[in-house]
Amino acid sequence: MMNVLEKAYPARALPRRCVVIIGAGFGGLACAGALGHAEVDVVVIDRRNHNLFQPLLYQVATAALSPADIAEPIRRTLGRYRNIHIMLAEADGIDTQTKRVMLKDGNAVAYDQLVIATGSEYNYFGHDEWQRFAPGLKTLHEARRIRHRLLLAFEKAEQTKDPAERRALLTSIVVGGGPTGVEMAGAISELGRSMASRDFRTIPLSDLRVILVEAGPRILSAFPEHLQTYALGYLEKIGVDVRLGAQVSDITMEGAVIAGEMVPAGNIVWGAGVKASPASRWLGLEGKANGRIPVDSKLRVEGYEDIFSLGDTSVQSGDNGAPLPALAQVAKQQGHYLGKLLAKIDTIEIAKPFHFNNRGNTAVIGRNAAIFDFGRWTLKGYLAWILWAIVHVYLLVNFEKRMLVTLQWIWRYLTRQRGARLIDENDREDVLPAARR
Ligand SMILES: Cc1cc2nc3c(=O)[nH]c(=O)nc-3n(C[C@H](O)[C@H](O)[C@H](O)COP(=O)(O)OP(=O)(O)OC[C@H]3O[C@@H](n4cnc5c(N)ncnc54)[C@H](O)[C@@H]3O)c2cc1C
Repeated sequence: MMNVLEKAYPARALPRRCVVIIGAGFGGLACAGALGHAEVDVVVIDRRNHNLFQPLLYQVATAALSPADIAEPIRRTLGRYRNIHIMLAEADGIDTQTKRVMLKDGNAVAYDQLVIATGSEYNYFGHDEWQRFAPGLKTLHEARRIRHRLLLAFEKAEQTKDPAERRALLTSIVVGGGPTGVEMAGAISELGRSMASRDFRTIPLSDLRVILVEAGPRILSAFPEHLQTYALGYLEKIGVDVRLGAQVSDITMEGAVIAGEMVPAGNIVWGAGVKASPASRWLGLEGKANGRIPVDSKLRVEGYEDIFSLGDTSVQSGDNGAPLPALAQVAKQQGHYLGKLLAKIDTIEIAKPFHFNNRGNTAVIGRNAAIFDFGRWTLKGYLAWILWAIVHVYLLVNFEKRMLVTLQWIWRYLTRQRGARLIDENDREDVLPAARR
């Protein structure tokens, strides 16, 4: 089978080393960027043509931003590097004997060094059938599905004469009290209140219900206790019904069973847990914590000299021996480190091991409310929210996106308006039955 570079450049007999990167998320993109202009050929394979800024997906799901504000074509970001080749394709295996990445379309790509950066996916804990009724928040498609369901439920609620049906339509259930669940619950509650009071005529605020379900005893378990308490208080103030120590035992077309009680809902969002992409299985590895591929201090996959992994799909120990968290800042720093390492592969043995520089953990809870944990000190409330906004704008992929998002945020903050509240006629089928009747 031909290497993709042999096909595209038949005159060149692969004069250079070839690094293949699977996945152009936070980690893969940083790795490729660090290899730009290096004396290697780089092939970046992704099943999407865009890099997605997942931390702001909840704003697309709640109609604050448009999909294009947080997604950037990979070719636009990496196109300026003549040594980087981009492939829109889905990897579904690795032949470590012949050193080839197997693609779903039957093709294969040969590598000298391989980087696996395929991220993570939602874990439905053995109930994948729930995914249909309770989308997670990982892709633009899922964010749009949630947005359609929310908006459509309001439209239907405005028209129904049946109070029980209206209450069901206006009930949103968010499963999982981590940062994603908290961000979603806060944003849905604020969106609902703003729409009900400004844009709709027959929706009483008292019928709006956002239920945040967390199986553990606290929300935001990775944050210090006083920040958890602040977040809980703020959510309750904006009308979120937080149910701690409550298990979701079933999710159907009608709603979710929470602590044994069936709660009819027009919208359910899943944010309860993630697992690594299936890449560990391609290597026949068990995968540690939630299927993540164990890597050493230089991001090498145990047992392989030429295969590396980073970001959410791998697990690496930090300086204190604990696994590094599945965060964008970890993936980005690892990607940058690995790109530099792979540019000069001969020096890998004497290269310094990867060191994670923790820039703080954050979550936004609502308008004017966020939390930051920098280890030695913490921040909460309005100042944390301003800092959260600055950091997230800065992390967006380019200047154009930064300007667009900043202007929209300032405009919406001042006018209290929402952004992309569009429902297409084709979206009407993709709703829970409460909103379809
Ligand atoms: C809703 C949400 C909010 C978040 N908020 C924050 C936050 O505020 N701060 C923070 O630090 N982190 C946050 N995170 C976590 C952060 O987004 C991840 O840690 C980060 O994206 C991991 O980067 P990665 O490169 O490992 O994977 P990803 O960025 O997920 O990229 C993986 C890439 O691999 C591609 N891919 C996967 N499988 C294949 C395949 N088989 N073939 C080809 N391509 C494939 C995907 O299309 C994708 O482009 C959030 C995550 C979510 C979902």
